[in-house]
Amino acid sequence: MAQGVWIVAEQRDGTLRKVSFEIAATARRLADELETEVSAVLLGSGIEGMAPELGEYGVDRVFVVDDPGLETYTTDAYAAAAAGVVKENNPAILLLAASVQGKDLSSRLVGKLATGMATDCVEVTIDDGKLLAKRPMYAGKCYGEIVVSGSPQMASLRPNVFPAVENQKAGEVIQYAPALKAEKLKTRVLEVQKDTSGKVDLTEAEIIVSGGRGMKGPENYPIIEELAEVLGATVGASRASVDAGWRPQSDQVGQTGKIVSPNLYIACGISGAIQHLAGMSSSKYIVAINKDPDAPIFAKADYGIVDDLFKVVPEVTVAAKKLLS
Ligand SMILES: Cc1cc2nc3c(=O)[nH]c(=O)nc-3n(C[C@H](O)[C@H](O)[C@H](O)COP(=O)(O)OP(=O)(O)OC[C@H]3O[C@@H](n4cnc5c(N)ncnc54)[C@H](O)[C@@H]3O)c2cc1C
Repeated sequence: MAQGVWIVAEQRDGTLRKVSFEIAATARRLADELETEVSAVLLGSGIEGMAPELGEYGVDRVFVVDDPGLETYTTDAYAAAAAGVVKENNPAILLLAASVQGKDLSSRLVGKLATGMATDCVEVTIDDGKLLAKRPMYAGKCYGEIVVSGSPQMASLRPNVFPAVENQKAGEVIQYAPALKAEKLKTRVLEVQKDTSGKVDLTEAEIIVSGGRGMKGPENYPIIEELAEVLGATVGASRASVDAGWRPQSDQVGQTGKIVSPNLYIACGISGAIQHLAGMSSSKYIVAINKDPDAPIFAKADYGIVDDLFKVVPEVTVAAKKLLS
């Protein structure tokens, strides 16, 4: 019989991603309700040292799948390795992060496990012994409640939405040797180009200052960057500013960009098109600065400033500097 709540933890360059602790703590909560155990799959090369940290977030057993073939993430190697250990252990529930990597991995894994999955969930509970997942639909216009009928019941959780509660100290670490057949893998990584900016990834950022077409051009972004620097925030952008070549694609927030859930999202010169809202409406607090009082962003904003951003943003920067100094 399928049992246990499992997660696939995510690590990069020898560090567990914050979202891994969020899904571990969520798995713990669900497992407590089901009176069962939490297990994690940790994939990579030279990663064993990371396993105990997962125990601190409620994981009872960490299956360490350590193999040189997993040094760099590829969909087929990671999906093959994860599917092997999951199939052997037959969990009832399997959670992953709805991060860039998690989305890629889970879509292949769900096929290999021949089950179903609720993606990008913002709430998960247990209902009548089953996983009940809540996720935004129609670009965030409404929420759907999903019960996956296959086994394991899979769900990917939106980063920055679930609390990473520490509640346990030590989990058992189990070495698992993957049966990876190099000749069966279709992907070979030739080169990895890393983001060297050192900034916190948008999906993990606590504060985001985003600029849209209202910024008028790339030469004006320093005012946003200065505010971001003072607040310890990451800079984001609307698609209009990315399409215009003012900002890199990796900065784009929205339906075809990144889905973000910071504590504070400051939208500067962004109208609030449905595709942009789809990426940021689960932010805890939204501040909009826009000179058009009828801009749709104000319908979603907790605080709105109707004025010229070129006047307001530097004033907010000065005020924030004073407050935080
Ligand atoms: C399939 C599809 C996918 C898409 N995916 C995305 C996505 O992922 N992310 C995304 O962002 N968009 C996406 N879009 C595009 C989206 O529909 C909008 O075109 C885009 O979000 C608009 O960007 P914007 O708000 O910066 O520009 P605009 O809509 O042009 O808004 C600019 C705003 O700036 C304000 N403004 C101008 N000057 C000032 C000033 N001096 N001070 C204050 N305010 C000022 C204006 O009042 C206006 O409200 C997608 C569209 C499609 C069709």
